[in-house]
This record gives sequence, C-alpha cells and structure tokens, in this order.
Amino acid sequence: MKNYNVGVIGATGMVGQRFVTLLAGHPWFKIKVLAASERSAGKTYRDAVGSKWAMKTPIPENVADMVVKDALKDMKEIADEVDFVFCAVDMPSEDIIALEEAYVKLECPVVSNNKEHRHTPDVPMLIPECNSEHLAVIDTQRKRFGIKRGFIAVKPNCSIQSYVPALHPLKKFGIKTVLACNYQAISGAGKTFETWPEMVDNLIPFIKGEEQKSEIEPLKIWGKVENGVIVPAKEPLITTQCLRVPVSDGHTSAVFVKFENTPSKEEIKKAWAEYKGEPQTLELPSAPKQFLNYFEDDNRPQAKLDRDLEGGMAVSIGRLREDTLFDYKFVCLSHNTLRGAAGGGVLVAELLAAKGYFD
Ligand code: NAP
Repeated sequence: MKNYNVGVIGATGMVGQRFVTLLAGHPWFKIKVLAASERSAGKTYRDAVGSKWAMKTPIPENVADMVVKDALKDMKEIADEVDFVFCAVDMPSEDIIALEEAYVKLECPVVSNNKEHRHTPDVPMLIPECNSEHLAVIDTQRKRFGIKRGFIAVKPNCSIQSYVPALHPLKKFGIKTVLACNYQAISGAGKTFETWPEMVDNLIPFIKGEEQKSEIEPLKIWGKVENGVIVPAKEPLITTQCLRVPVSDGHTSAVFVKFENTPSKEEIKKAWAEYKGEPQTLELPSAPKQFLNYFEDDNRPQAKLDRDLEGGMAVSIGRLREDTLFDYKFVCLSHNTLRGAAGGGVLVAELLAAKGYFD
C-alpha cells in the first residue's frame, strides 16, 4: 500500500490528540501537518497542547516539536503539503462548514469527525463495516464542487456505534422498531474525572442533541444510493434515551428490538458471529478481526473490561434474551473515542485509501 501524508486539523483538541496518538505508528499514514486555531499556531505541538494532553501515553516524539499551523490562515500551504486531512474542531457550525468546504475546494479531501455534514445527501457518513457502498456518492459531491480530487467523508456520532453495528446483520430479519437507552461515558463530552469531578457518583439524564442524532443518523447509514445521493431509510422506527454516566470511556447501549420475521436466538448469535464487512475482507490496518463479539457471561460486556477489545475497534454484545414488549433485548458496548471517534475516522480513511480515493 502507498504511503500518504496527512494533516490533523484541530490537533490540540481531545479528538485531535487521539488522532495524533493513533497515527504515530500507522503503516500507511504519516503526519505531515498539525493545525489548530491562531491561539496555538506558531507554537510547538508540545507547548500548544500543554496541560490539555489527555491521552494515557505521552505525546509521540515524532510530532512533539512540530510547529502547529493556523488551520485557516495557512490553509493553502497545508492543502499543498498533504494528501488529505482529518478534521475535528470546536467552532460555530457555519465556520466548520466553511472550513471543510474550503479545504475540499483546494482539492484536499477531508475526513471529518464534526457533525455539520452528516446529513448532506452527497456526503458519505460511514461505519465502514456497514455502508461502504455509500462511497459512490463522492462522484456527485465532486461534480457539485466542480473539483476532481477533494471531497468530505464523515463518521457518525459515537452514541450509535454500538447498536447500529449490532443491529446491522439482523436487518435481513426485517427490523421494525428499536428502543435504545445509551449510557454514555464522560470522555464523549471531552471530559475526565479530574476536569468534571461532579460526575463522580452521579448520572445526568440529558445530553444536548444526542437523542435526535441517535434516532436520525442510523437511517442515513441504512439508506440507499439513488441518483448519486444517499436517500435515508424510512424504517425502523427508533426511539432513544441518552444518559451521561460516571464511566471514563465506553458507551453502553441497552437495546430492545422488534422484527418482521422474528429469528431464533441462535440465528441472531450466528448472524453476529459470522458478520464481516469490507474492512475485514480488505484487512485494513485498524479493522478488528472479529467486529461483533457476543459474550455468554451475564456480567458482560462491561465498560472497564471490554471497551479496549481489538484496540477499542470491536463491538461487544451480551445478555440477549426474549422481551415482553419487543421480541428481544440485549446490551452492547463500544469505545466512544476509538471506534466512536478518532479510530472510526482512521478506519474510514483506510477504506478510502484502499479504494483509491486519495490518489
Ligand atoms: P476540543 O477538545 O474542544 O478541541 C477543539 C479543537 O478545535 C482544538 O484543536 C482547537 O484549537 C480547534 N479550534 C477551535 N477553534 C478553532 C479555529 N477558529 N480554527 C481552527 N481550529 C480551532 O473538541 P473535541 O472534543 O476534540 O471535538 C472536536 C470535534 O469533534 C467537535 O465537532 C465534536 O463534536 C467532535 N466529536 C467529539 C467527540 C469526543 O469524544 N470528544 C466524539 C465525536 C466527535 P486550539 O487548541 O488552538 O483552540
């Protein structure tokens, strides 16, 4: 596989730090540029991040002394230096849209963790194991911008990345209705117990905007490409509740599901065990070998024990049983900042690289 020069926009932030850490030893992608706001520009990465460094491992040596660029003012220079950028910034929505589209118009592909383009019909929103066929809409997007090489690809919200993977292989049984209660870790809010001590021994029953994203985004993932754009699925009907819980990393979801053709428990477990997506077939570097992992032990999955399965990229499932209102219920877990954020972004980029979209 060819090697690619990469930029990280928003490199000093929580997701940006995770990108920097994951890319340190990446076999295909080499960090060439780190960029953030004008507050960080001109400083070494070590100085710009300072005490905000939140990863468990130290700042990788290969980037610690790299001078951070200004994502806006140095845009042309950055676009010329790299093959594509990862983008995870905290800015007003209209500024994020303008920033991402400006890079694209400079023929620089953007793999984005931001929410702004998740519902643009010609922007693929990818869980690479579930909807890699949506990459086809990139041609439409390039025509819209009048460019040849640039494009935006996004990843969905972290909150859907345990139950959408678990439900995906069960679509063949006709999923009618889904209820998902999401118990979400504090790192999803960019926080640790040190920076958010109020979360120790606590639970907050509200996460702004999260339930709406959790109900709408799966329908785009399960949508079809028609006339060069993604048309969201109309079913299943999904309802969710999202609660912030005192867990550092790992979003857990309690899922209830009703089918058109109710499968047996064995059929469901078999569908999970056998499911492989393109990342597994293509053997992408960040792809988990076993995407969906069922635990027979009633005490699993547990956030602390299971979130790091296969580098935090696998999904863990347990407690499958019949339900009184729905057909079945089960519990599933994924690592919100790995599979759900930067790791998912890196896997999207690997899929794009393997399919020649950066060439
Ligand atoms: P964060 O920790 O607040 O980091 C924000 C980053 O944006 C910093 O690098 C900051 O640079 C940069 N930035 C702010 N204003 C800028 C500007 N005017 N120009 C250029 N760069 C600017 O935020 P985060 O938690 O990493 O989240 C970043 C994005 O990812 C958000 O859209 C968020 O919704 C999304 N996301 C987050 C998570 C998560 O688990 N935290 C998960 C999925 C998606 P300075 O340091 O120079 O200010």
